[in-house]
Amino acid sequence: SKTEETTATQKKDEALVWHAMKPYNPNNTLIAQQAKGVWVTDEEGNRYLDAMSGLWCVNIGYGREELAEAAFEQMKKLAYFPLTHSHTPAIELAEKLNEMLGGEYVFFYSNSGSEANEVAFKIARQYHQQKGETNRSKIISRYRSYHGNTLGALAATGQAQRKYKYEPFASGFLHVPPPDSYRSPVDSSKVGREREEVKAIEQMMVWELEETVAAVIMEPIITGGGILMPPEDYLQSVHDVCREKGALLIVDEVICGFGRTGEPFGFMHYGVKPDIITMAKGITSAYLPLSVTAVKKEIYDAFKGTEEYEYFRHVNTFGGNPAACAVALKNLEIMKKEGLFTRAKVVGETMLEMLNMKLAEHPKVGDIRGKGLLIGIELVEDKETKQPIDVQVVNKIIGRCKEKGVIIGKNGATVAGYNNVLTIAPPLIINDEEMSVVTQALTDSIQDIL
Ligand code: PLP
Repeated sequence: SKTEETTATQKKDEALVWHAMKPYNPNNTLIAQQAKGVWVTDEEGNRYLDAMSGLWCVNIGYGREELAEAAFEQMKKLAYFPLTHSHTPAIELAEKLNEMLGGEYVFFYSNSGSEANEVAFKIARQYHQQKGETNRSKIISRYRSYHGNTLGALAATGQAQRKYKYEPFASGFLHVPPPDSYRSPVDSSKVGREREEVKAIEQMMVWELEETVAAVIMEPIITGGGILMPPEDYLQSVHDVCREKGALLIVDEVICGFGRTGEPFGFMHYGVKPDIITMAKGITSAYLPLSVTAVKKEIYDAFKGTEEYEYFRHVNTFGGNPAACAVALKNLEIMKKEGLFTRAKVVGETMLEMLNMKLAEHPKVGDIRGKGLLIGIELVEDKETKQPIDVQVVNKIIGRCKEKGVIIGKNGATVAGYNNVLTIAPPLIINDEEMSVVTQALTDSIQDIL
């Protein structure tokens, strides 16, 4: 039973805090008090295993005092200085990221994934201007993708149900279908650039006039759209098309980055070296806000004109905050020391196997898929028709998991209004026993409700 204090706090929350989404269980919002490792404790002392790492971001888990100390020490020394000048933590972090990416990049700092993508679009557009290709402004992305909440990033997003109430957006954002190995199984007679989903991009460039396309943006694996696994040669083929047509390839690593898929960055599974890479979330494990747009050196060099207006005219007051950079550096150091990228790969494989063993035969489990600690379970009414299961049922499963002390997510947007993919993206430090807690809670909840 709830204490009076809890009830009072919940009433205040309801009256004053505008939540991003309708809570999964509107009568029982989780008001977190503290957290350690993968465990979050609420006001009444209930413990939950956070199998979503917050919003896919607390990659090294909660309660790492070293990160708090890194922020504290940095704030005492230099709490803020704008990057219209510079400071050491921003330089050191750029050096570290460049090392992770194998060199050749320059780094622009912001505070959120959305902003990092906005920066990518603006850089892509201006880059072509600088080179005299003044008609290249269009940005191509995929349906079902999510690239952020600001108007440009939302324009690039491919989920109509998130967008239509905020239109019109800036023009020049175009969408193609993504590969979806479950709903459109790969036709093995077609590979590389012959694949329908790659041809869709190439054809769009032809119809739109290729000299008007600035860039293509994509996540290596679509996350918020329902964990869509691409064919192995997809990203490489898209990169080839981009190069041929003179468009830049922007890879959105906001979720896939920093070990989530078992590699430092998601694109590293697919043998490409993107022109622009956007990162946020896991870079600080969300201990402080920070995002980065990594840009190939040769693109940066095109901005080195002598005229005032040849510079990148984009100022960000908070971007690259020294404490956030110090936290990111410490976060990356811990990830390396603890081998968390490899750990995500190994634990993720085991988890996928366990879920397959327990759930693959269930008549309403259409597909179980993922890479590293990024896993989706697609629920359907019927395995033959693949009709997505109603979102109310998905909510019930999530609610049941929560009753069992495990927080999972829902994503998908298979058809507008359907969010039929349960998602699991726990902190990369999750141990075997905790992993079993997640798989058991999920299996029991699915079996209870379906
Ligand atoms: N890109 C992807 C792939 C995301 O999943 C998100 C957020 O979930 C964003 C961009 C936007 O990041 P932020 O919420 O930090 O603005």
